[in-house]
Amino acid sequence: MKMVMKINGTSALSSNVNRTRDNNGHINGNGHAFKIWEDTDIIGDDHIATNIETPMRADAFLLDDERKVEIIEQHFNKIMNVLGLDLTDDSLKGTPRRVAKMFVNEIFYGLNPENKPSMSVFDNKFKYGQMLVEKNINLNSTCEHHFLPIFGKAHVAYVSSGTVIGLSKINRIVDYFSRRPQVQERLTVQISEELKKVLKTEDVAIIIEAKHMCVSSRGIQDESSTTVTAEYSGIFKNEKTKDEFLTYVGMKL
Ligand SMILES: [Zn+2]
Repeated sequence: MKMVMKINGTSALSSNVNRTRDNNGHINGNGHAFKIWEDTDIIGDDHIATNIETPMRADAFLLDDERKVEIIEQHFNKIMNVLGLDLTDDSLKGTPRRVAKMFVNEIFYGLNPENKPSMSVFDNKFKYGQMLVEKNINLNSTCEHHFLPIFGKAHVAYVSSGTVIGLSKINRIVDYFSRRPQVQERLTVQISEELKKVLKTEDVAIIIEAKHMCVSSRGIQDESSTTVTAEYSGIFKNEKTKDEFLTYVGMKL
């Protein structure tokens, strides 16, 4: 299962409320459960994940990307106006469109299943039966509670069941699921589930260590803390295998 801990700081992802199967809990298709919290402010400020799936409306893709950019541009224009900014100023007038394009095409491109990286898998011809670790994968995401950046590193490992993928594909999977409004725990599980599906194995581990701008630049304003989440499946639930992985990524305490 998953570990959540906080280094050098106040807990943003409090470990006692994460994915415990609970009578009041919501259970999703993958068998993960999250406790439902009544108070949405608590959910937002404590960064509690309520579901492993990114909550999307059924009509999410009725509008094409171009139309979405137009509408977001209009709304962002209004936000800037309400803040009292002068949108006739040369420096500001392009901002609403720039932000709208950035949302749709860059930082939230991973909302659209059409953008999921295509995965060609290969037979494991070398019969390499050991652990493969890809560490320090760059990660850029956005907190869904504050729309501020989450950035850090992901470390991924798997043991091939006979199927392998190109190494850069692991980075692409990490990036795709990161480019959504996210909570770190959900991101961790989504990447893990996708890798298990693509690699046709349960033997997958992932650790994410990231900084949340909403913790460092507002609220508690904790500059030094990072948040660590992990998901161990299959053989990685075995302490020895897990320790080997933690040693490779330099996180063995
Ligand atoms: Zn946040």
